[in-house]
Amino acid sequence: MTSRAHACRICQSPDHDLVLDYGEVVPADAFLSSIDAAAHEQRYPLTLVLCQRCFHLQILEVLDPALLFVNYVWETGIPASIQRYCREFADAVLARSGGPASPSVFEIASNDGTMLKEFRSRGCRLLGVDPARNIARKANSAGIPTIPDFFGERVARDVLTEHGQWDVVIARNVLAHVADVHGLIAGLRLLLTPQGTAVIEVPHLLDLYRELQYDQVFHEHIGYHSLDSIIRLCAMHDLVVFDVEHPWVHGGSVRAYVGHAAADRRALPTVAGMLAEEETAGILGRQAWQQFGDRARTQKRLLRAELSSLREAGKMVVGYGAAAKGMSMIQFCELDDQLVAYVADKSTMKIGKFAPGAHIPIVSPDRMRADPVDVVVVFAWNFAREILAQEKAMRDRGVRFLHPIPEPHYL
Ligand SMILES: [Zn+2]
Repeated sequence: MTSRAHACRICQSPDHDLVLDYGEVVPADAFLSSIDAAAHEQRYPLTLVLCQRCFHLQILEVLDPALLFVNYVWETGIPASIQRYCREFADAVLARSGGPASPSVFEIASNDGTMLKEFRSRGCRLLGVDPARNIARKANSAGIPTIPDFFGERVARDVLTEHGQWDVVIARNVLAHVADVHGLIAGLRLLLTPQGTAVIEVPHLLDLYRELQYDQVFHEHIGYHSLDSIIRLCAMHDLVVFDVEHPWVHGGSVRAYVGHAAADRRALPTVAGMLAEEETAGILGRQAWQQFGDRARTQKRLLRAELSSLREAGKMVVGYGAAAKGMSMIQFCELDDQLVAYVADKSTMKIGKFAPGAHIPIVSPDRMRADPVDVVVVFAWNFAREILAQEKAMRDRGVRFLHPIPEPHYL
């Protein structure tokens, strides 16, 4: 089962099990500006493995981050429910920070500054860092100070020299994206005041397993975390998790509140509760993951069969949501514009482009509303409820919405 040389990014063990082989795929954010550009498209292997020693789920292949993130096209400012999420996040963090009423806030991978704006409106001093230069520029012009760089120990030392430590350090949806997890956590620790609170949030491995979210796997996501793996990683840097929540964002996430071990903050029962849940589900062992690959291959067969029979019946099928996970599912299931005519998405940075690998056109939601569509595949299943509410007019005229996982079903 072990393939090619690899050391676990948390515990350094070379021994791992193969969980799922995605074949050779195009990075999920590498949208094509024209069909002609397909000739220059680069494919890379994508292999999901499980560490045999610490059970950390991770991909083998790491691409040059500069290739993936320097002109990143995901902007957090888009979906309406994200605004509500940001408000709730800021409230939850301030309720637990235990320091000054308006703590200073540093955010790693702050994107367009959507989250930091929430803290600004609560009177906090702010600084963000994000490697996507185009998006960092946007944040700066919106008045959210943002360093355009990759966060790690080097940047942490520069920030420490220039701005000192921070009461709150936020790392949302970033731990999964870095190969050097120890550099990230060491940098975070360096910037955290002695009594400060760090917040680490990543898609939860438990949801990935239960809901068969194999589409969360793409080159930008290098590691897939449980609360167990976060605690293990933090402990290696004298940090402890003292509270945890399970927000709905990104298909179900784990939000861990972290302090210095020396600060001696008592762990709340929420921590033991979630660990027990992970243990019971079996995700901290090998057996559950041996079945995961089979479950994904079955879903692929079922989805292709449904889309093929719709095509044979002359139905018009389109997709909704051109986020990376949709692009991952489209490539894993080998879908093309014969099975899914196009994918609708709100992002003006994606409309008019073509899906990586599959070359399915990306169009505006207005186009989808105007067309005689029969079925919409909800690739952005984490926003399914919002999409259904928003497209009520389509539903009223009989358009059906197909949720692709854990097995394809109509909503
Ligand atoms: Zn390991």
